[in-house]
Order: sequence, then structure tokens, then C-alpha cells
Amino acid sequence: MIRKRVLSGMRPTGRLHMGHLFGALDNWKRLSEQYDCFFFIADWHALTTDYADPSQVKTYTIEVTLDWLAAGLDPKKSTFFVQSRLPEHAELHLLFSMFTPLAWLERVPTYKEQREQITDKDLGTYGFLGYPLLQAADILIYKAHYVPVGVDQVPHVELTREVARRFNSLYKPVLVEPEALLTEFAKIPGTDGRKMSKSYDNSIFLSDTPEEITAKIKPMITDPARKRRSDPGNPEVCPVYDLHRVFTPESEREGVIAPGCTTAKIGCLDCKQVLLNHALPVLGPISERRANLARDPEAVREILREGTGRAKLVASETLAEVKAAMQI
Ligand code: SF4
Repeated sequence: MIRKRVLSGMRPTGRLHMGHLFGALDNWKRLSEQYDCFFFIADWHALTTDYADPSQVKTYTIEVTLDWLAAGLDPKKSTFFVQSRLPEHAELHLLFSMFTPLAWLERVPTYKEQREQITDKDLGTYGFLGYPLLQAADILIYKAHYVPVGVDQVPHVELTREVARRFNSLYKPVLVEPEALLTEFAKIPGTDGRKMSKSYDNSIFLSDTPEEITAKIKPMITDPARKRRSDPGNPEVCPVYDLHRVFTPESEREGVIAPGCTTAKIGCLDCKQVLLNHALPVLGPISERRANLARDPEAVREILREGTGRAKLVASETLAEVKAAMQI
């Protein structure tokens, strides 16, 4: 049976953390049981913002792949590849740029938002404006049926669909219009209560050992109004409780932790210990697996080489069809 194809990628800009595990990787694992999944390291996309200092891109290509493997993604079930090893993506991007109206790119909401929010880098570049079109090429070159995305990425899939439609109507119906597979992401706060992000220095990484995780969770921010042990707390505003939602069984969370907090029967340190009791059996084996895999980076490179070879077969075939349709 031919399985439908899914495509997704990650930029190699840092080690992955718990937010990635519960936001993307667990979902990827589920999808890989059902679909023909292509997962790629989007190193050209990393350059769209980090062009001035590309020194870490190669290192993080391996680090991110290690995180994927440690989280349980299986390169035998899915295809892992590196974007920049496939110049076919760049060629398709160039061909798309010939007929894509500038206004389609200028109206992508993340383009405007990031130009406003990221002030420490000059993003007035051609590459940054064009990155959703490169993304369209990444997707369409594999004739992917589905693209797993969060709600903020839906406009990118919509742009991809518009590009496919325009190509198919201008030339020949070669490209497949992909659908967004909307993914509900668990709320994963960082240790300071803000969204977990490497730029906030508040992350629990997949590479962290149980000791490092414990050292990060123990001083974690709680309900700010709970100043003394005898003050009742409010789990709804507590980031530690958000992590309980991920790790602690519902019966214990709602039957013991929440009432214990609101009546001040349990203290925050006890509460964090319960969290650790549930989180470490999940996170500990991931960091252990990762440490073992990291001893053999050549094996990781081989996985990427092998996957890139498989991806190339599909990408070169689509590109040949596109060029034939465009008569070049
Ligand atoms: S007892 Fe737990 S849920 Fe309540 S404020 Fe403290 S850490 Fe948060």
C-alpha cells in the first residue's frame, strides 16, 4: 500500500528542548507510524536569520539529528535529510520565484511580525522575504500530502497551495496541493514561566542529565502570589503545574496536587519533587540514549547521507517534471 507523504523540518539553530519534544517530535513519531514521513534539517532556513554567523549550523545539524534519534524517531521508518545537500530545492525555489507575486510574500503574517520583533538582526534581505517560497519548494518537491504545523504556520501552507495552483494552471498539473495537519501543542513553560525558548535561557534540553533537570526544576518559578508555605496557591497560574499536565497522571494531578496546592497542604518543593518523580523516568532515558548516540557522530552522518540519497530520488524526479512542464 502506498502511504501518503508528510513533510516537516527544523532549523539547526540550537539543541532541542522539552518544548520541541512535546510540540513536534512526539507528533512526528505518531505520524511516522502512519505516513511516509520526510523530516529535514533546514540549514538554508537557518541562514535566513543567522547569515552573519553561520559557524554553528553544521554542529547543530548533528545535534538536532541526535535529538530526533534520542526522542525515538526511527530513520528506518522515516527519511531524514539535509536541505542544503539537495540543490534541487534551490532550483525549484528559483523557478517558483519567476511567477510568484511579491505581494504574496509580503503579506505572510510571520514576515511582518518577525521583522518587527527581531531587532538585533537586519532582516531586510531577499532571503528572509523569500523563505516561505523556499518552504513551498521544500514541500512541493516531495509532493507531500500533509504538513504538520501550529496555527501560526497555516498561512505558509496556504501560500504553498497557492504556488502549486498557479504552477499547475500556468503549465501542467504536476504539483500536489498539501494540507496543513493542525497540531495542538501542549503548553510547555520554561523555568522562568515564559515560553520555553533557548533565547530566554529557560530551557530543559533533551541532552540534560537527570541531575541537570533536577537542578533546573527545583528553583523554578511558581505561583508568584504564593510567598509563604502557608499561603494557598493557584495551579492555574503556576508553570510547574503546566509541567504536571504533561507528566503527572490526571488522577494524581487533579486529586492530590491541585487540591493540595489550593489548601496549602503541600509546599512547592514537595510539588516539584512529585513532578520530578514523573518527569525523570521519561526524560532520563532520552538523555542517556542521546549521550550513547553522541559517541558515534559518524553513524549520525551516515543516517543523514542515506536519507538524503533517498530524498534525492524523489526531488530530482519532481524537478525534472517541473522543468519539462516549463519547457526548459
Ligand atoms: S504547590 Fe505546585 S502547583 Fe501550587 S504553586 Fe506550588 S509549585 Fe505551583
